[in-house]
Amino acid sequence: MNRKQLDFLMADLRRRYLPYRRHQTDTALGRITAETEDPFKVLISTILSQRTRDEMTDKASHQLFARYPDAKSIANASLSSISHLIKPVGFYRQKAAGIRNVSRILLSEYGGEVPRTFDELLKLPSVGPKTANCVLVYGFGIPRIPVDTHVHRISNRLGIVKTKTPEQTEAALMKGVPEEYWIDLNGLLVRFGQSVCRPIGPKCGECNFRRFCRYYKTVVKRG
Ligand code: SF4
Repeated sequence: MNRKQLDFLMADLRRRYLPYRRHQTDTALGRITAETEDPFKVLISTILSQRTRDEMTDKASHQLFARYPDAKSIANASLSSISHLIKPVGFYRQKAAGIRNVSRILLSEYGGEVPRTFDELLKLPSVGPKTANCVLVYGFGIPRIPVDTHVHRISNRLGIVKTKTPEQTEAALMKGVPEEYWIDLNGLLVRFGQSVCRPIGPKCGECNFRRFCRYYKTVVKRG
């Protein structure tokens, strides 16, 4: 995709889905951020959301934070109590141990605060590139590109990147997309992926990007 097409894409997505605040996306993470504006809760919710549906993340996060609202209280909680509260999410036992471990490290090494850099976040257990980038964008408003399944799928379909894994997509997007677009890209593509470019049955007939979309030209049109 060339720069002109990318500008058209972003202008169209912004016109369609803005104004929205990053804190008001239709995702569990967006709702947690909107309610709390707390990087710690964004971090913990993002860990809970790994391989889990949004509504389950929502439920588990609310139950957890109602009882344990910060790093100190989670660090001192029993594993059985945390597990019970986050039971709606997949792998809840491992995640209970993971978030307590993270909370303890935040307390001992960062005074209970969440670090603001990608490299420091990556050093935390249970934190990979997507989680670190979510915390930076949604917790701190720092430009990065969190790559979830929507961003990975749509970027490849459109032809912005040609990659096999979300990690490769993240690197390719941050290299090829101007920084001015980074902070909104995740939120816009998630909305676009939920409503138009769905995982199964994308609504290509009502999409404005057909003329340059690689998937449309190579798969749908030839279909
Ligand atoms: S044309 Fe189809 S595949 Fe391409 S971006 Fe639009 S909805 Fe997705």
